[in-house]
Amino acid sequence: MYPYRYHRPATVSDAGEMLAEGEDARPLAGGMSLIPVMKHRLAAPTDLVDLGSLGDLVGIAAEPGVLAIGAMTPHATVAVSGTVKEAIPAVAALAGGIGDPLVRNRGTIGGSLANNDPAACYPSAVLALGAEIVTNRRGIAASDFFTGMFETALEPGEMIVEVRFPIPAAASYRKFPNPASRFSIVGVFLARFADGAVSVAVTGAGPCVFRIEAFERALAATFNPEALTGLSVPPDGLTGDLHGSAAYRAHLIKVLTEDAVAECG
Ligand SMILES: Cc1cc2nc3c(=O)[nH]c(=O)nc-3n(C[C@H](O)[C@H](O)[C@H](O)COP(=O)(O)OP(=O)(O)OC[C@H]3O[C@@H](n4cnc5c(N)ncnc54)[C@H](O)[C@@H]3O)c2cc1C
Repeated sequence: MYPYRYHRPATVSDAGEMLAEGEDARPLAGGMSLIPVMKHRLAAPTDLVDLGSLGDLVGIAAEPGVLAIGAMTPHATVAVSGTVKEAIPAVAALAGGIGDPLVRNRGTIGGSLANNDPAACYPSAVLALGAEIVTNRRGIAASDFFTGMFETALEPGEMIVEVRFPIPAAASYRKFPNPASRFSIVGVFLARFADGAVSVAVTGAGPCVFRIEAFERALAATFNPEALTGLSVPPDGLTGDLHGSAAYRAHLIKVLTEDAVAECG
């Protein structure tokens, strides 16, 4: 690990200033991704701004039509929250299936989204539900937030404060996990909204989370697994690695989407 300066802000506004002032300052959430990356010398921030002292960034609230989750809320808290289970049970189930107990107790929703690992679970929920990512500077629509592998629309010095999920009529997250890490080999988050619109977002299968519009159109017309008969996902551009070929992942996307529809139906 390279040397760095450590900061412990007292307020969100202080944190924003510290992030803006450092040459390559980064927020530190649970450290589940950032610390290993620094230990391997793959990242060398000049300053770490520890968000762990900012109680304002931890919390869950249901408002009319919206579930709001603070950026520093750990996965374990989301997984057991009665508010989340009532508003969007699929989000609680997603959080409860992340990694292992250590990762769920330290890892945060803000860290997961900012990191944008191609196999992370939360990006699929955020994209499928059309969530808003609220930062210390602005609100960013999910459709604009994920820009590439480990890349987001966040600018230097910008930090996530809260994530606001529209509450759907029904939703399901189905994951085929890597048995060692529990990261998604493929994960599918499906949301069905009160107006009949359907959204299908996929993680683990490409460089960045993406939607499958052909599935969404078919399911909006007829919401049952048979609506996908005859449709398939082209494997071109999908990830192929030692865990599964691109064709295998393409097949999994359809199977998991069918499962998700059955669960919502
Ligand atoms: C063994 C293991 C298994 C895992 N399994 C899964 C899994 O099954 N599914 C899954 O989805 N994830 C999984 N993860 C990832 C985990 O869920 C964490 O969410 C992720 O590692 C981010 O960790 P963190 O919240 O501690 O953020 P950190 O590691 O502290 O930060 C990650 C990045 O986000 C930035 N950052 C942090 N907070 C903010 C903020 N509020 N605003 C802006 N930038 C910020 C940091 O600067 C850094 O660049 C796993 C991780 C491990 C180590």
